[in-house]
Amino acid sequence: MQTFDVAIIGGGIAGLSLAYFLGPHRSCVVLERETALGYHSTGRSAAEFVLRYNAPEVCRLAAIAKDFFDGPPDGFSDIPLLKRRGGVMIATADKISRLEEVLCTELAFTPELERLDEEEALARLPILKPGYAAAAFYDPNFWDIEVENLLQGYAKGARRNGADIRERHAVVSASHDGQAWTIETSIGPVRAKTVVNAAGGWADPTAEIFGVRPLGIVPHRRTAITVDLPEGIDISDMPEINEIDEDFYMKPDAGRLLASPADATPCEPGDVQPEELDVAWAAHYVEEATTIPVRRATKSWAGMRSFSSDRLPVIGAAADHPDFFWLAGQGGYGILTSPALGALAASLLTGRPQPEGFRAKALNPEKFSPLRFKS
Ligand SMILES: Cc1cc2nc3c(=O)[nH]c(=O)nc-3n(C[C@H](O)[C@H](O)[C@H](O)COP(=O)(O)OP(=O)(O)OC[C@H]3O[C@@H](n4cnc5c(N)ncnc54)[C@H](O)[C@@H]3O)c2cc1C
Repeated sequence: MQTFDVAIIGGGIAGLSLAYFLGPHRSCVVLERETALGYHSTGRSAAEFVLRYNAPEVCRLAAIAKDFFDGPPDGFSDIPLLKRRGGVMIATADKISRLEEVLCTELAFTPELERLDEEEALARLPILKPGYAAAAFYDPNFWDIEVENLLQGYAKGARRNGADIRERHAVVSASHDGQAWTIETSIGPVRAKTVVNAAGGWADPTAEIFGVRPLGIVPHRRTAITVDLPEGIDISDMPEINEIDEDFYMKPDAGRLLASPADATPCEPGDVQPEELDVAWAAHYVEEATTIPVRRATKSWAGMRSFSSDRLPVIGAAADHPDFFWLAGQGGYGILTSPALGALAASLLTGRPQPEGFRAKALNPEKFSPLRFKS
């Protein structure tokens, strides 16, 4: 049996971005339980790229990732990976001071933010209900991500470099003989010197399979719906609508309006489904904040956003096993940070220099080390 240098568990954006950056330097196999890559969190995101409104470390990761999105290697994707959308932050009358506070803070980093009066807000957001937003500002720094192209770009590039990507391979048990791991999958055994845990919502249970201490990475359910637009309403170029405290957000999505109540309910890892109440909240916000009537949700779905206790990603070798590597806890920003985190994980695994950007952005990768979680 071939012994791979690295076995990556999880064929979502985390596992495939790592396979992509690792491919030229190490032999690697990706083990994915489902029949399709990206079936879980990766395929259920809101596809948003934003440079701000996250923890400072995540904003720096986004800035590093932006270079890749703007200029991926030749042949990576036949369409641009980002499309500028812009975003309008809105506040009801009781939250005007909160919006002012956010605007003042953000202006220090993003001078191009534009305060909007009601007329200007309605011009940017023609579906906004007149009188709903008492304060608003426009931020040009939101983009849509072409998630499927990104995922397939990683997978194609990884395969081109020899990575073996295996769907329908559920990892069920493992043992280490002092030299390498023998990983039992639903299809048969695989051997690898190092294992990478890129199992998304299953990061903790996956560690347990390998006898490694779990780190308290908890999946949180998030719901989204889409609703039809009345005839003649075209919002394809409309910016995102973001409630200032993230009570909800909405954005155009393939000819419809996508809305999320921005729920974050801790859940068991699994094929999570939307709860009726969260779907009802999403519909409620559409009816309350916009002029779009909701007869029914055309589509509703939920997925996992998995967080460590400090809500930063976990990247690095486990304290209790040098050949077990964490690539987990990407929360609500795993797609947009994937070029930075995939490249960082590959550099840590190969001992190669830090990816470009980390030093320039004064971002110390140790921030993400699993060693920060004491036993
Ligand atoms: C509604 C919603 C909106 C979001 N919006 C955004 C957004 O706008 N921008 C953004 O950047 N991020 C967003 N996110 C977050 C983003 O989707 C995640 O951070 C990202 O997809 C995590 O990727 P992953 O590869 O870690 O997880 P996943 O895509 O879940 O991949 C993990 C894979 O591991 C596999 N696996 C687990 N255990 C095993 C095992 N034992 N054997 C084999 N395979 C196994 C699973 O089958 C799964 O396919 C959103 C998430 C949700 C739910």
